Amino acid sequence: MKKLFAIFGDPVSHSRSPLMHNSVFKNLNFSACYTRVHLLDGSKLKETFLDLGLSGANITVPHKEAAYKACDEVRGFAKIVGVVNTIINENGMLIGYNTDADGFMFAIKEFGDVKSVLILGAGGTAKALASRFVQDNIEVTVLNRSASRLEYFKNLVSTCSTWDDFEVKRYDLVINTTSAGLKDEELPAPKDIIEKVLNNTSFVADAIYGKLTPFLKLAHEKNIIYKDGADMLLGQGVLANELFVNGELKTEDIKTYMSKSFKL
Ligand code: NDP
Repeated sequence: MKKLFAIFGDPVSHSRSPLMHNSVFKNLNFSACYTRVHLLDGSKLKETFLDLGLSGANITVPHKEAAYKACDEVRGFAKIVGVVNTIINENGMLIGYNTDADGFMFAIKEFGDVKSVLILGAGGTAKALASRFVQDNIEVTVLNRSASRLEYFKNLVSTCSTWDDFEVKRYDLVINTTSAGLKDEELPAPKDIIEKVLNNTSFVADAIYGKLTPFLKLAHEKNIIYKDGADMLLGQGVLANELFVNGELKTEDIKTYMSKSFKL
C-alpha cells in the first residue's frame, strides 16, 4: 500500500519539503506520497496525524515544540533539545526525532574540522545548533540583539553576550541564525560588529536560503568561503527521508534526487 507523509506547519504553503521528498519517492520508485497540512493548533497534531493515516511527518514553525509533546517516544538529539521536526509512525506509536542540527553538521562537513563557532541569534535554530556543537566539544559563543533569550545559553556555552558587551575572538565558523536578511536587507548585528566578526573567521554560514543575505554579501566581498541555508535544508531532509524509508533506499541516492528538487 502507498505510504502517505506530510509536513505540518503554519504557514506551510511555502515549504519545499513536498518537492524534496516526492522527488526521492518518484525517482526511486518508493511507493509513497508527501503532502502538506496547514495546522493552526499544535495540540491537534497527534489526532490529525492519526486521522490521516500518515506513516511519517515533518514539522515546521511554529509546531516543533508541540510535536515533541505529541510523541509517545522521543529518540536521540530531539530528547536533548525538546524539539521534534520528524515523526515516524511505529505501529500506531508516534516516535519523534530531530534532524535539523545533524542536517547542519552534514552541511558544514566541507569546512573540515571546526573547533570554534560564533552563533548570531538565540532563537530555536541557535538552541539546536549550540547543543549539537557542545556535544562535539566545539567551543560556542552566542551573540544576540536582546538579553532575555541568552538565559538558555548561560549554562550551555562558553560565552554569550549582547551587542553592547561583545568582545570579538577568533572563530573557525560564524553562523547567522537570526531572521535578519530574510524579508529585509538588515545585517544580524550593527555593521561595525559584523565587520570585526568577519575579519576573524575562516568560514561563514547562514540559515536563510534562497537569497544572498546582506551578511553573506559582506562575507563574499571579503573573500570568505560561505554557504547559505540550502544545504542545511537538504541535510535535515535527507536524514528525515532515511527515517521514512527505513533503510530501503541508499543515502547517496536520496541525496542525489533531493538535491535535484532544488532546481525545480
Ligand atoms: P526564532 O524566531 O526562534 O529566532 C530569531 C532570532 O533572530 C532571535 O535571536 C532574534 O533576536 C533574532 N533577530 C530577529 N530579527 C533580527 C534583526 N533584525 N537583527 C538582529 N537579530 C534579529 O527563529 P528560528 O531560529 O526559528 O529561525 C531563524 C532563521 O533560520 C529564519 O530565518 C529561518 O528561516 C531560518 N531557518 C532555516 C532552516 C534551514 O533548513 N535552512 C531551518 C530552520 C530555520 P531577539 O532575541 O533580539 O528577538
